[in-house]
Amino acid sequence: MSWQPVIGLEIHIHLKTRTKMFCRCELAYGLDANTRTCPICLGHPGTLPVPNARAIEWTIKLGLALGCEIADRAIFHRKNYFYPDLPKGYQISQYDEPLCRHGRLLVPGPEVDAEVGIVRAHLEEDAAKNVHVGGAAGRIHGAGRTLVDFNRGGTPLVEIVTRPDLHSADEARRFLQLLRQTVVELGISDAEMEKGSLRFDVNVSVRPAGSDELRTRTELKNMNSFAFAARGIQREVDRQIGIYEAGGEVEQETLHFDPDHELAPPLRSKEEAQDYRYFPEPDLVPLAPPRQLVERLRKEIPEPPGARIRRFESQYGLRFYDAEVLNGSVALAELYERVVSAGVDAKAASNVLMNEFARTGVEPGAVDAVELAKVIEARARIPRDRFNEALAGSGDPGFDAERYLGDGLVVETSELEPLVERVLAANEKEVAAYRAGKRGLLGFFVGQVMRETGGNADARVVNELLRTKLDA
Ligand SMILES: [Zn+2]
Repeated sequence: MSWQPVIGLEIHIHLKTRTKMFCRCELAYGLDANTRTCPICLGHPGTLPVPNARAIEWTIKLGLALGCEIADRAIFHRKNYFYPDLPKGYQISQYDEPLCRHGRLLVPGPEVDAEVGIVRAHLEEDAAKNVHVGGAAGRIHGAGRTLVDFNRGGTPLVEIVTRPDLHSADEARRFLQLLRQTVVELGISDAEMEKGSLRFDVNVSVRPAGSDELRTRTELKNMNSFAFAARGIQREVDRQIGIYEAGGEVEQETLHFDPDHELAPPLRSKEEAQDYRYFPEPDLVPLAPPRQLVERLRKEIPEPPGARIRRFESQYGLRFYDAEVLNGSVALAELYERVVSAGVDAKAASNVLMNEFARTGVEPGAVDAVELAKVIEARARIPRDRFNEALAGSGDPGFDAERYLGDGLVVETSELEPLVERVLAANEKEVAAYRAGKRGLLGFFVGQVMRETGGNADARVVNELLRTKLDA
């Protein structure tokens, strides 16, 4: 029997607004602990939350980019639970009336595209950060005590929940990359996993291929990179298939992936259904985004990265993988399009940008596309090392392609001919020997001609020219 993985994601993204969600503390990352706090985000009695208008606009923007319906009325709820990172004893979140729902994101693939349903995208505040001291690598296991840094508490956080529409580990990885790129290009988050500004959990189950049942799923937590997540998902899929094929049943549980060992020891064997006693936040009025605002924001949405990959394939005749690499960042995608519109062949431009240019580490956003186009056009005419030098310099301010190409242009074939004649005339004895059968002398002639050009000739062309003359 063959099996189909069924994968859903829940993603949390920090918005990079200047201030927190419900108070005026500035957002800060990496500062001394508890230096960005106030009575509101510390949950002192008698304080009142004031919502961050920009965070609301940005959540609507993200919802629009994900093809969501934007609610006419959305409300904040209190999600009650007791934990040291939550000074109020509840988190202000959204529950049954979120800002955005019913969206979808196109995830182009090498063979099939996935269209991933977005169940909802809502706005909430992040909890503070627990720092476990004394254990290994900040983990709770073996820690002597736990400290709380409230700088993060109250950071605007968008939660995105997908439908279980992803059917392979690789598809899940591509979805996450496109989603990350979407928020970065919207300018609403830096979405960096190492900073914790993008975090996600994965739900995984499997079913017999062709069926549409939903079997028991497990939840994978603590993923710290997309590649790692893809590996973790694949292992979990294989594990579940193994259980079913051995006649067993998958148990609902939360698995915690250990980056070093890639093992999945259960954190809790039984999933407790938590009762958060949600109720509407009495200190905040419902949100009613005006239609004009939504329409204005809709106009600000850039082309979604998934759609851009598809367009690159059809407009420039690129393979999927090339289109995907070139769309790895909007700066690279834009540079590619400008280089092509400056006249460079679409295939040649993609080859150079993905290979030699990528190896230089030059920031695509810093490059003058017209100058770079000149360099790429000259690729066949100039020596390899000079070409690479020109690419490496292409990000410098005021970069001038002529400086690399001007005096160093490979001698044109028309200029080579007299040179070749001269070399042959000056070496009559060798010419006679060659014609008598000493073919190995060809290298000698090539060397002579190359020396005359100062090494600036295409050795293949010189070879051919010499052969035509010598064999004539
Ligand atoms: Zn505050």
